[in-house]
Amino acid sequence: MSRLSELGLLPQPFEKQHDSTASSTREEDHAYIEPLLDITPDFFLERNRTPEVKDNLDEWYEHKQKGELIASILCGDARAWIPEGVARRTASIRALGAGGDDEFKERFEAIMNSKGVSTVAFIGHHDGMLFVPKKAPRGCGITDEHGRQMLSGEEVNGEGYKDFASKHVRHEDPVMQTIYSSQDTLELTDKPVGAFALDHRTGIILPVGYFHHPKQGGYTSETGMNPKYFDKRHYNAPAIYHDGMPKLTEDQAMKMPDNLIEYWLDWEKEMEKVRNEYARNGVDYRQALKVQNPSIISLSTDPRPLGIIYRLGPNTAFKLRVPRASIEDDEFIAPEKLQEVLNQAHYPIDQNTRNFNSPEAAFSNTHTLLIQTRSMEKSEQIAQVAISKPYIMDWLNLPDQRHPHQIIVGQIHQGKVVDMKIFARNEHGQLA
Ligand SMILES: [Zn+2]
Repeated sequence: MSRLSELGLLPQPFEKQHDSTASSTREEDHAYIEPLLDITPDFFLERNRTPEVKDNLDEWYEHKQKGELIASILCGDARAWIPEGVARRTASIRALGAGGDDEFKERFEAIMNSKGVSTVAFIGHHDGMLFVPKKAPRGCGITDEHGRQMLSGEEVNGEGYKDFASKHVRHEDPVMQTIYSSQDTLELTDKPVGAFALDHRTGIILPVGYFHHPKQGGYTSETGMNPKYFDKRHYNAPAIYHDGMPKLTEDQAMKMPDNLIEYWLDWEKEMEKVRNEYARNGVDYRQALKVQNPSIISLSTDPRPLGIIYRLGPNTAFKLRVPRASIEDDEFIAPEKLQEVLNQAHYPIDQNTRNFNSPEAAFSNTHTLLIQTRSMEKSEQIAQVAISKPYIMDWLNLPDQRHPHQIIVGQIHQGKVVDMKIFARNEHGQLA
């Protein structure tokens, strides 16, 4: 099959300049470099008009009509990737650190409560290869940033991702963050809510919590840790991670509704296939997913995952959801919500601005900001607000010799691209 290699999405082994005086570590021997995708409006149009994408969209629509979608809240991280078969029944909500405070979750209340959605899943991610027992997981840039701010006592004000990490992230531990978010969500929806921990180096997810508070009564709260740790004052990483990740026992996990159990198990099965496909092409998935380096930053109002609309593989796009009033609603995004999304987009933009000249560095590939909504006019309005931000204008103007920086705007309707064009493109430091 080799779908990912056919699509040109597999990373290549990265040949480090050999320094005979230094002994290279094992990790360096297995480093990979992400392909720099040549992205134009046609790149998206062609990928969107294949029979496979049509099947994906038909299946997604069917799940929506039957009320079977799982609203999934994940970080924008390009390595926090939903496998394609699972993505076909996912209403995707992407926000830095997978969740946040009440105010932030309310922005997505309408999607969670839409008729097409049966269940909610919060999926926090971390780097499993950095995991050490008795310590909180690390590797989500934004919960790590929140932890840094807590430790240094730094007061953050103004615009950008630091402001977002300060105001909208609840905990520096991505597992606690998903537990908090899941619990708080019970005030917004009476649908079942699952909390999962995703190791983005393997794509393996583990259930760490399950909560349900239906209107007609009853309350379920299952976690793999003592509930006393839910109180931030009693948080105790050495106890919570004493024996590894605090996953649900089999009995606890079986209390989840069937569709959530299937979602979890199908995710596992599909990721195994993906890792095997990488291996057949001589690529170790865990090493390939070490450095985050997407070519695309996507801002989209469409609840369909980007992976089914364009069939993009892991580590190709950093994704953020622009909230809409509901799945079908056409109401324009309120300026303060848009500001919040641009604050999040600042994270990959800032990293690229520092790293664009070093192909092996994180976010060095990130050259395209894709903005898609249901009307070209709205996409252009968002792009206009984006370029009024100095950090986005400065990024657009970077003299990147490998690929021009650009903003592409699109009109997308139910996952189908209606129109796509370049809004601004910078050839070697000259804005066209
Ligand atoms: Zn993250």
